[in-house]
Amino acid sequence: MCQAPVEIEAGLAEKANCPDVYKVYWYLNSVGMRYLCRMKLIDTHTHLYLEEFEPDRAEIIGRAVAAGVDIMMLPNIDSSSLEPMLMLAEDFPGNCFPMIGLHPTSVKENYRDELALVEKMLQAKNFFGIGECGIDLYWDKTFAREQEYVFRHHIELAAGSGLPLVIHIRESFNEVIRILKEVNNPDLKGIFHCFSGSVEQAKQATGLGFSLGLGGVITFKNNKMQETLKHIDLKHLVLETDAPFLAPVPYRGKRNEPAYIPLIAEKVAEITGTAVEEIAEATSRNAMRLFFPEGKA
Ligand SMILES: [Zn+2]
Repeated sequence: MCQAPVEIEAGLAEKANCPDVYKVYWYLNSVGMRYLCRMKLIDTHTHLYLEEFEPDRAEIIGRAVAAGVDIMMLPNIDSSSLEPMLMLAEDFPGNCFPMIGLHPTSVKENYRDELALVEKMLQAKNFFGIGECGIDLYWDKTFAREQEYVFRHHIELAAGSGLPLVIHIRESFNEVIRILKEVNNPDLKGIFHCFSGSVEQAKQATGLGFSLGLGGVITFKNNKMQETLKHIDLKHLVLETDAPFLAPVPYRGKRNEPAYIPLIAEKVAEITGTAVEEIAEATSRNAMRLFFPEGKA
């Protein structure tokens, strides 16, 4: 078991013959022996296949792995993102894992064709989650009814496949909860992506068996999630970047990337008064249970 780090030494990574280490801590174990422990983290939500990353994608993945973030989950957006996402997953098979779904902001007139493609792909290839799906009432309400129809369809796909749902809840928390309650399937699991609600809302989501995705927003000043977080058990939390969006402080406003997950973990540790290693361990365990219930191949 990891205890609190007692010191951080420069050059330790080289000494330990461990060149890809981002932060190496010495730990005291239960019998007082010092040993090395490296944080393992998972980015449960990154859109690394988008063109924002075109110039330096391999370096970004290198930086992520060096930062201990060696698993990156890729939620799909729509038919246009499918091919680049699958190519990325093929290029980095041990690090990048694709999901299949239709993002609510991509639900337009052609949603039936998009949905048919999601279904076809799910049968043809190996995916690790159903998403990104859900409802977005922030940008455009024109297709609100269609968004609900598409979301319900994704829930059926998740129920049929046993895969976790990655749910987008922008301005739609109550709608998503209402739908999940109506469906009333205790086998459903997944993540409320970019959760930043009240304690009451957190309890509603976790009460339905869902985890809460925490990203860069938690590092922003005066966001209410910091208070909510103090009342939520670690077993419900997973970490995510939503890269290229929502970069944590001190990169707020810039392009986000998975290597910034430790910044989010450190903020969660600070808010909850928990060792950062414990946050890493708990959130990684939670994410593994969701996406790789039978272990990672
Ligand atoms: Zn997203």
